[in-house]
Amino acid sequence: MKKNKIKVRFAPSPTGYLHIGGLRTYLYNWLFAKKNKGEIILRIEDTDRQRYVEGATESLIETLKKIGLPWDKGPFIQSQKMGNYQGLAQKLVDDGHAYYCFCSPDILEKMKQKQIADKLAPRYDRRCRNLNEEEISLRLRSGQPYVIRLKVPNQGSIKFRDLIRNDVEFDLKNIDDQILLKSDGWPTYHLANVVDDHFMGITHVIRGEEWLSSTPKHILIYRAFNWSIPEFAHLPLLLNPDHSKLSKRQGDVAAEDYLAQGYLSKTLINFLALLGWNPGNNQEIFNLKQLIKEFSLEKIQKSGAIFNREKLDWLNGYYLRQMPINKLVKLCIPYLNQLGFPINRKKIKKIIFLEQERLKRLNQIGDLANFFFLDDLEYEPGLLFWGKTSSKETEDNLIKIKFLLKKIPCFQFKAKIILKKLNILAKEKGTGEIFWPLRVCLSGQKSSPPPEAMAEIMGQEKTLKRIDLAINKIKRARQ
Ligand code: GLU
Repeated sequence: MKKNKIKVRFAPSPTGYLHIGGLRTYLYNWLFAKKNKGEIILRIEDTDRQRYVEGATESLIETLKKIGLPWDKGPFIQSQKMGNYQGLAQKLVDDGHAYYCFCSPDILEKMKQKQIADKLAPRYDRRCRNLNEEEISLRLRSGQPYVIRLKVPNQGSIKFRDLIRNDVEFDLKNIDDQILLKSDGWPTYHLANVVDDHFMGITHVIRGEEWLSSTPKHILIYRAFNWSIPEFAHLPLLLNPDHSKLSKRQGDVAAEDYLAQGYLSKTLINFLALLGWNPGNNQEIFNLKQLIKEFSLEKIQKSGAIFNREKLDWLNGYYLRQMPINKLVKLCIPYLNQLGFPINRKKIKKIIFLEQERLKRLNQIGDLANFFFLDDLEYEPGLLFWGKTSSKETEDNLIKIKFLLKKIPCFQFKAKIILKKLNILAKEKGTGEIFWPLRVCLSGQKSSPPPEAMAEIMGQEKTLKRIDLAINKIKRARQ
């Protein structure tokens, strides 16, 4: 027998940005599709018109494109190509699986308040479920607004097998008569989602854990239509290091913000792949080909996955160090432009070459390299003293360094030659005593590229000027 081709979908709602957890859902769907030679569809679920955000659909698609994992079909935008949701909801009414509900928002609100006061879980009390034919047609004829609700059985349970969570069971007692069609004729998420999954031939629904409690409702809808039910896989939640749910309040959750900060899509893919999926060994670095090969739903964990920002930085640093210098320069230039630094490509290339080792995010390049561009450096004079070296000794050493560097002919002012000269001095005075104050007076920082390399890029004049400034700083501090 020929096996059905695997078909998955990513079905985000346009809320204004692509949640980083949504990006992981997309990635897992994508990997699953590629691994199984299946198909991935992008479907934008925007039937909730009250939550509609202008431009959100476009930005969502834009961000997904930047990630660079192409989908096979779509984007299908629900609001633009409506399925026959109304006809299908009507069919469920005709077949006795759904019913008209005429309760106004006001009635529903009062019902809810009373339930809360009585310490009951708020839910629809099903009062319209038993209206007789006559009453219904009377109300319909008089044009009374209505919604269509799913008739959830009063008793029993819904059991299903989740590919990650194994057997899952929900007691029907706790499930509300879900609205399928709203009074304005638009379908709710539940109806549109099931109808589209069915007509698109989706075989596997892979989505976040927050949708697990919707699944019994969806299964009831599939059954009511007598449609075959897809497989389900609910991915673990993403958590902050304190185990709270990853949320906007505690930091960035928008995938586009990570891209804007200069995390490479390669990094995000590698990082998110390991956020809930475990290859079964300690391997941390994966390219896409390896991920496709290794990925499987069985190796996804049930428990929440901790979003570790340090690991993300580490991984991005790794990929940035692997990058050919010209490509890195191209990516860094917009960040330097933003800061208004003069762009001399040759000089920038040398600077970035030096900083490549330390760079963890592209937007750090300004902070890491600004001392090359600034006129004055701000730092405490105390930073110039190496270990227990006194202020006077440091001053003397800087004078000696200056004397030595001044003697180098301008055209020979290259890292190699500078290093050779400094080493002669270091032999006599000590490595830290020479290289440390020079590092600080050139960069104003504790960690920086090697002083001789910075000096070459800054040039002899600027280097000597900075040594002078440091000497003056020390003198002033002593007075
Ligand atoms: N539109 C839902 C969302 O915003 C989709 C959930 C699902 O995949 O079924 O995530």
